[in-house]
Amino acid sequence: MREKPYLAYSDVLKAKFGHRVYKVTLDAGFTCPNRDATKGVGGCTFCDETGSSSRAQNKKDTITAQIQKNVEIMRRRFKAEKFVAYFQSYTNTYSKIERLKRLYDEAMAAHPDIIGMSISTRPDCVNEEKLDLIAQYNHPGGYLCVEYGMQTIHDHTLELINRCETHADFVHAFNLTRERNIPMCVHVILGLPGETHADMMATAMRLSEMLPEGVKIHLLCAMKHTPLEQQYLRGEWEPLAQEAYVQLVCDFIEHLDPSIAIHRITGNGHRDGLVAPRWLLKKQEVLMQVEQEFLKRGTRQGATLEATTLSTSKGI
Ligand code: SF4
Repeated sequence: MREKPYLAYSDVLKAKFGHRVYKVTLDAGFTCPNRDATKGVGGCTFCDETGSSSRAQNKKDTITAQIQKNVEIMRRRFKAEKFVAYFQSYTNTYSKIERLKRLYDEAMAAHPDIIGMSISTRPDCVNEEKLDLIAQYNHPGGYLCVEYGMQTIHDHTLELINRCETHADFVHAFNLTRERNIPMCVHVILGLPGETHADMMATAMRLSEMLPEGVKIHLLCAMKHTPLEQQYLRGEWEPLAQEAYVQLVCDFIEHLDPSIAIHRITGNGHRDGLVAPRWLLKKQEVLMQVEQEFLKRGTRQGATLEATTLSTSKGI
């Protein structure tokens, strides 16, 4: 099989654990400071009522019930053996420390094949106390990851999408997390309103300096009942075309340091809720086109950085 032109996270996990590891998505009933008026109301313009989740869970079920039900489904469907509890919906550190500990403990004890946790959150919703708690779940041979929704390094874009936080918030959270040796995955969105190609490449290059352990690349898409859907219907925002996204994602990956594992390169639009672009549902096709584009270019992850270093060292 041909080697992937980028460091795929699934391969990293397979090498570490000896088999594929599957994520069990959870809805722990959190909300978000960008929805409850603590920081803002209405949420980020692209976020729907599920809090950017995969909709796989029912938050009325306990964490234990969600895990046990889905572990069995994934066992049958994929012959999966090991699982990560993925606190995905809304802001999964946005609560009192006692409740966070209770939920995280419950997840870790819910099933013998849970090997660790992934906790998705906003950078402005962690502090030293919460990260100290999370660091306690970091064991050799286990799995731990904090996923930060950074989206972009540009504050003017964060304002346009009503993020109600700044890049400085992300840098602060990143540093606190790194000090505690907690692995991180940073979410970015391509095609954000007002962003130029250079803006997006600047985000990739900044990540290459900061070196998070992983990156998830999303395409901005309009979901039902979101402000972005309204902007799309009024003709104020247009999604990227499939071919343009393929080019862009290859450019972005070429600007990413090769040590950063790529968790995902296509968005996560849900069939029923996705308004535009509908081509986002052709996930396998997009993945294949990205590989073909790299093959055509003869490049891979970090190629632009290597070329820049080479030309700088040659004084070009
Ligand atoms: S911070 Fe996350 S959960 Fe909150 S509104 Fe934005 S995308 Fe949705």
